[in-house]
Amino acid sequence: MKPSKRQDTYRHQGLRNQLVRSIQQKGISDPAVLAALEKVPRHFFFDSSFLEYAYEDQPFPIGAGQTISQPYTVAFQTTLLKLVKGEKVLEIGTGSGYQACILAEAGAKVFSIERQKSLYDKTRILLAEMGYQRIKLFYGDGFKGLPTFAPFDKVLVTAAAPYIPELLIKQLRPGGILVVPVGDEVQIMTTIHKISDTEFRKEEHGHFRFVPMLEDKAKGH
Ligand code: SAH
Repeated sequence: MKPSKRQDTYRHQGLRNQLVRSIQQKGISDPAVLAALEKVPRHFFFDSSFLEYAYEDQPFPIGAGQTISQPYTVAFQTTLLKLVKGEKVLEIGTGSGYQACILAEAGAKVFSIERQKSLYDKTRILLAEMGYQRIKLFYGDGFKGLPTFAPFDKVLVTAAAPYIPELLIKQLRPGGILVVPVGDEVQIMTTIHKISDTEFRKEEHGHFRFVPMLEDKAKGH
């Protein structure tokens, strides 16, 4: 990562290290995921008045009614993707960009879609400043995926989907994995393993809470 005008001090690194250890104690063991969490300065994604919350294992508001996911949830979803270095990953719900950076640090080629223009604009600037030019950001509706860039090795949905989006499965290669929280108030973390174009295996991994994945055209603010 290129140096940027934001500072990552020893204090921040120490707090981050503690956070990573607490996430490890909660059962996350994938070394690539833990190393990525150790690397990405989560406080860069917070407004300066809320920096003290950046290294708590909690979700936090990022504006436009959205949240940066809880670090444990980011780690859990990333683990479910079973990433191999160099894989193409489509993320739905860029939000702050934190999860996209974790995917990139874990070795993925990241494509990420956000439907709120204000967040898309803000995050594009932040990721460029942080030196993550290789993360490709798109403004649009995640339900449609990115057909021009398909197939993807993995697809990660970071908003609560009311049902499993068909087009996202279509854009996975055979052998690929979709990770998606499904439900309204509370969601079931669901993985779909695409065995072939006609064969799928579904697994469920407990309850989580996300902001809703909204199905209409992308909106400006
Ligand atoms: N991955 C994010 C989490 C953001 S919360 C992070 O690391 O910060 C979920 C995001 O999904 C919100 O920003 C919301 O605007 C976005 N979203 C909701 N429905 C969407 C859709 N249909 N397409 C793309 N993004 C969507």
